[in-house]
Amino acid sequence: MTHPHIKALTDHIYFIQSPMNGRFPFCNGFVFKGSQTILIDAGLGDKLIQAVDQCFHIDTLVISHSHPDHIKSWHMLKDRRLLLPLETTDAVRDMEKLGTQYTGDPGSGRHWVKNIGKPLGIVPLRKPDQRFGDKDVFDIGTARIQAIHTPGHYYDHYCFLDHVSGTLITTDIDFSSFGPWYGNPCGSIKAFIDSVHRIMDLPYTRVCSSHRPPFEGDASHHFTAFLQAFDRQKSEILECLGQGKTLADILALSPFYHNKFMDLTVQNVFEGNMVRENLALLMEEGHVIEDKGWFIPRK
Ligand SMILES: [Zn+2]
Repeated sequence: MTHPHIKALTDHIYFIQSPMNGRFPFCNGFVFKGSQTILIDAGLGDKLIQAVDQCFHIDTLVISHSHPDHIKSWHMLKDRRLLLPLETTDAVRDMEKLGTQYTGDPGSGRHWVKNIGKPLGIVPLRKPDQRFGDKDVFDIGTARIQAIHTPGHYYDHYCFLDHVSGTLITTDIDFSSFGPWYGNPCGSIKAFIDSVHRIMDLPYTRVCSSHRPPFEGDASHHFTAFLQAFDRQKSEILECLGQGKTLADILALSPFYHNKFMDLTVQNVFEGNMVRENLALLMEEGHVIEDKGWFIPRK
């Protein structure tokens, strides 16, 4: 198998390195060869997913969660078995509803469709051939891949553990330098941290995420650094408050995106959700008080 983006992890598991080194709007893919050939996630871009299909002849496409960078090229394999999480709503079958689910309201949803969804070539999903839920196992002889529901990043987010090889796919528990992302209305820091704790102690031999190359062996320091990034993000919000700020003030400072996201309206939606999540924790912990829309650090 000589293709610059295809790397064998074992004699039947392949890591597919996405274009742009795993950066949005792409994500890595994982091929498992056995009694059927499974591809996890469709964020490789149309050309690469086609090349992967030519190499392996994909039977089944498993979508880890319904974010745009994980479904991007699903339509290139639309005639194969499509497996979606049990939790994934039918909003994924309609662009405007999908936009509303990402942003929280129909107006912003339409804006997302026009300015992000369509330019990225996102196509609504179809009715799946099968659903999978927490603890379900795909047994293909050479691999027994267990699905693990890990919400927080997104409501239908799944990780996968192959019990034969010990390959753990952590999906968007992704170890990226940005840190954890929970920018949709359903995003939750507490659920996200709980999900990380549940998977980091699993009996893995390698860890593969959607946006970085795989780690062989013990990855506990990567998990620890990822957990520390939640605290870093919270400290950054506390620091940026100064003597006190409104949410609009904080969004103008753009502590997470530094105003570099592809669209300002959607940036404010995503960043707003992440900032609100951190403010809620800071208030719960007694570090910040709210007074008439102003968030003020306690001395
Ligand atoms: Zn995601």
